[in-house]
Amino acid sequence: MFDVQTRPPQGKCEACEAELWMDEAEPDEWGHVLCPTCREEAEKAETALTVMEFVDLQLKKILADEPRNQIWNAAARRFHFPEEAS
Ligand SMILES: [Zn+2]
Repeated sequence: MFDVQTRPPQGKCEACEAELWMDEAEPDEWGHVLCPTCREEAEKAETALTVMEFVDLQLKKILADEPRNQIWNAAARRFHFPEEAS
């Protein structure tokens, strides 16, 4: 084993620039390098996005595009996923 303290970090978190060593610096399946904290946040956003996609499909049946986009964008700001381009 080598002493990680004496080696430069292998990578940096894309979101908060935390220094990362060993497997932490490995890109995930989407090619992103994130520290454990930011990865957890990203997973929450991913889950919220999946839920919102389902909700959006349901809303499509009963709402016009504009209020539907407003709901989408409110959720996007809250959970940090992309807003609807409108
Ligand atoms: Zn981070």
